[in-house]
Amino acid sequence: MLLRHTPKEITERKALTINPAKTCQPIGAMYAALGIHGCLPHSHGSQGCCAYHRSTLTRHYKEPISASTSSFTEGASVFGGSANMLQAINNIFTVYKPEVIAVHTTCLSETIGDDLPQIKKKAQTEGIIPKGKYVISASTPSYAGSHVTGFSNMVKSMAGLAEPTGKKNGKINIIPGWVEPADMEEIKRLTTMVGVRTILFPDTSGVLNGPLSGEYKMFPDGGTTVAELQSTGDSIGTLALGEWCSADAARYLDKAHKVPCSILDMPFGLKATDRFIDALRTVGGVAVPDEISLERGQLVDMISDMHQYFYKKRVAIAGDPDQLIAMTEFLVSIDMCPVHIVTGTPGKKFEARIKEITKDMGCEVNVKAKGDLFLLHQWIKNEPVDLLICNTYGKYIARDEDIPLVRWGFPILDRQGHQYFPTVGYKGGLRLLEKILGVIMDRKDRDDSEQKFELVL
Ligand code: SF4
Repeated sequence: MLLRHTPKEITERKALTINPAKTCQPIGAMYAALGIHGCLPHSHGSQGCCAYHRSTLTRHYKEPISASTSSFTEGASVFGGSANMLQAINNIFTVYKPEVIAVHTTCLSETIGDDLPQIKKKAQTEGIIPKGKYVISASTPSYAGSHVTGFSNMVKSMAGLAEPTGKKNGKINIIPGWVEPADMEEIKRLTTMVGVRTILFPDTSGVLNGPLSGEYKMFPDGGTTVAELQSTGDSIGTLALGEWCSADAARYLDKAHKVPCSILDMPFGLKATDRFIDALRTVGGVAVPDEISLERGQLVDMISDMHQYFYKKRVAIAGDPDQLIAMTEFLVSIDMCPVHIVTGTPGKKFEARIKEITKDMGCEVNVKAKGDLFLLHQWIKNEPVDLLICNTYGKYIARDEDIPLVRWGFPILDRQGHQYFPTVGYKGGLRLLEKILGVIMDRKDRDDSEQKFELVL
């Protein structure tokens, strides 16, 4: 009974978050930056922030995360961190030799008003950015938004590297949003199968799910190259997967370089994957190959075989807006009832979109943007559910309320596999259903009486 103090009675709270359903902006900026080949993320703030961000990513991805810091002490906190930043840029390019330094701010450097574009300009004037190397920056104050906002801000900065030549490259930019490295790999597999050439950015596959080779590489082989990022301005279109994570960068490329963009949902589940494949087909001017239809058919087959176990099961979900929107649609499409839905990321559009998706479901739905897991727990106490889908922090609620839990989202700190097995696309849909069915069936086997205990289900 770890959360035994969570009361059933719900009191309106405006200035207090309990058990957040989000983490801080720079973590998102750091994750996005790791998706550039040869990039060193740099935290403009104190060492403590940087250590926390690195350790959170390490705990989720089970990989060492390299990042540098401006190492603010009292002096920088009072007089500004410009000198620390300039020295850091010089040291990093001299010692570690990255292609790109991706700088993000922290609460402290934002509060004292450090101006990253101006510091970068000074670094250029003083000649401490070597020719052919780049410094990009994103403003990521953690008292606004969430890790999702930080991710989006850094992805938009990456799009700022676009240098159109005036000649189209025949490629489609795909901005995958905050998904696992395995999901990015799966998106590339699908686009290759469909037969379109793409630039995926960011791309953490091969960076945060690499093999153990016995050889340490500070900059792993994966990641979107600078040349690819520069070429995004010549692409024939951009598909941004997720309004919260990816749309800003796509709209920037559209506005600045006239690369038309479509904002889609993340391709979790049947319908969202259908829309993604259809968009690839349309933008790329290609036909959908039989292999893709086969994978789709397998997912439909599993849904119809197992429908009796999904039907009207009540689900609570917490996570990031783009992921929750697609997951909610998937659950509704298989006749499950997502009844409590919480994200810690702000954005009223989220609540409207969830209400739209669930309007014909036939159950009352509680949905909250900028909510927390404390509220989710209270909702569950008042109206119990059959399943909880959440990151690792959901295990406390699952234990206290004795509910099956599927771990999904960020962070997952106590299980393995999420970085290797995709949950996007049709194959990813199979994996999601397998996980959901697994916990529902385990629960049934545990609860069934001796007379009802079955070998074949
Ligand atoms: S001070 Fe701000 S940026 Fe640093 S760890 Fe805390 S919330 Fe994140």
